[in-house]
Amino acid sequence: MPEHDERDEAPIERLASLRHEFGEHGGVNMSIEASTTFTVMEAGTMPEIFQGRLGPDEGGCFLYGRHFNPTVYVLGRQLAALEGAEAGYCAASGLGAIGAALLGLLDQGDHVVASDTLYGGTWAMLAEFLPRKCGITTTFVDATDPEAVRNAMTDRTKVVYVESLANPTLRVTDLPAIASIAHGHDAKLVVDNTFTPLAISPIEHGADVVVHSLTKFVNGASDFIAGAVLGTGEFIGSLMDLHTGPLMILGPTMDPQVAHSISLRIPHLPLRMKEHAGRAMEFAARLDAAGVPVSYPGLPSHPDHEVFKRLGREEFGFGGLLTIDAGTRERAETLMEVLQNREGFGFMAVSLGYFDTLMSCSASSTSSEMDEQSISAAGISPGLLRMSIGYTGSIEQRWEQLDRSLRRCGLVS
Ligand SMILES: *Cc1c(COP(=O)(O)O)cnc(C)c1O
Repeated sequence: MPEHDERDEAPIERLASLRHEFGEHGGVNMSIEASTTFTVMEAGTMPEIFQGRLGPDEGGCFLYGRHFNPTVYVLGRQLAALEGAEAGYCAASGLGAIGAALLGLLDQGDHVVASDTLYGGTWAMLAEFLPRKCGITTTFVDATDPEAVRNAMTDRTKVVYVESLANPTLRVTDLPAIASIAHGHDAKLVVDNTFTPLAISPIEHGADVVVHSLTKFVNGASDFIAGAVLGTGEFIGSLMDLHTGPLMILGPTMDPQVAHSISLRIPHLPLRMKEHAGRAMEFAARLDAAGVPVSYPGLPSHPDHEVFKRLGREEFGFGGLLTIDAGTRERAETLMEVLQNREGFGFMAVSLGYFDTLMSCSASSTSSEMDEQSISAAGISPGLLRMSIGYTGSIEQRWEQLDRSLRRCGLVS
């Protein structure tokens, strides 16, 4: 590690100081290591490599592609630099990464305190899959209320699980407050930072483990499903343990070709995040001024505006997502149809972080794993339309499309 001055480095500075990986023939892009297995030069070293005592970092070599692949490793290092983590490794999907992180931290009979507002697949993993398959139980609480988190902690609580910016309510978790509660109980704070790469760095605020769905903003082109886990070197290493490591044993392995493609998109992630957030702020302000029920953490009226301002890195704004409450599911659906089919404003599709705008009605799509009671407890109204704001086209062109559609649907007069 190079010497550092007193000032903490920002993610873009950490990324720039990573050792650059050159291609095999001196190419400015790294080469793809497509091999699934690696030659050992001396037969006697094989057992040591197998026992993890002689890996690529200890003068040994790589072993097998499900264990570690050099190309996937590079992306892991980039993401660790992005999040300020000691180490990181990738998985075939966000849920693969989340499952590995949780199974790495939890044993049978352990307990989780989790936000009641989570990505639907994560909610199903905690509410249904883990209790049934592993005897790991979860208490869901309003994670914007530190007292509620504190009251739910038990002797068996090993993990507190939150999203930096909750999907789809866009509520912000006060990470330092929640981290101190978790650590006071010897539990680890795991934060899903899929919605706010760069804007919020959870590790700076006390998180122990950060998970990502790279499928969204980090990749940015909606062409790969991918995920990552970031944390201490010891923890990431434990996920690869030949006997109990969930990444090793369950095998949600990222393909090196995918790692290579995503790796080439990391350098322009800061530019993309600024543009997503800048446009989302602009549209949110105009919608608010027009009297449309809009929610965006950049608006002073948002309940967690001050929390986001305190945790966030100003140059990256308040994220690329906003929601409009169209009142009823029917009105939300009509608005999406007009926006897509008449105006070409964006696409009706789940997912987010694409260069074009993606729109979905959360209650009946990405949160539909949750039962009705949990949906209303999380504050997800049936007419809630989530928009991941893209950056294609001009701002004026997009605003005119949005404004015309809102008028047509009677949401502004
Ligand atoms: C999409 C998403 C996931 C799941 O990621 P996949 O890559 O689809 O497996 C997890 N958390 C959040 C916040 C997401 O948006």
